[in-house]
Amino acid sequence: MVPLELESNPCCDIRRKLAEQFSVHARLYSEAVVTLTRLKSLTQAEYAKLREAAEKAQERAELASVQFEEHVERHRCGLTDDRASSTAQPLDP
Ligand SMILES: [Zn+2]
Repeated sequence: MVPLELESNPCCDIRRKLAEQFSVHARLYSEAVVTLTRLKSLTQAEYAKLREAAEKAQERAELASVQFEEHVERHRCGLTDDRASSTAQPLDP
C-alpha cells in the first residue's frame, strides 16, 4: 500500500476547484471582451453592462489565480504536477 504522505498530492480538491474557477472566469472575461470588440452598434447602457461584466470576470479570475497560487504554495499540492502550468496563464490586458 502507498502511505498517504504530504509529499505528493496531485489530486487536491481545493486546488482543482480553484483552477476551475479561474478558467471559468477567465473564459467569461475573454468572451465579454470579444463581444465588446465585435459589436459596433451597442447602446451606451449595453456597453456599460458588458464592460462591467468583463471587469467583474477579470477580478474573479485574478482572485482565483491568487488563491490558487497561495493554496499550492501552502499546501504544496501542485509542485510535482508539471501539467499545472497550463491552468495558471496570465490574463491578456
Ligand atoms: Zn491542495
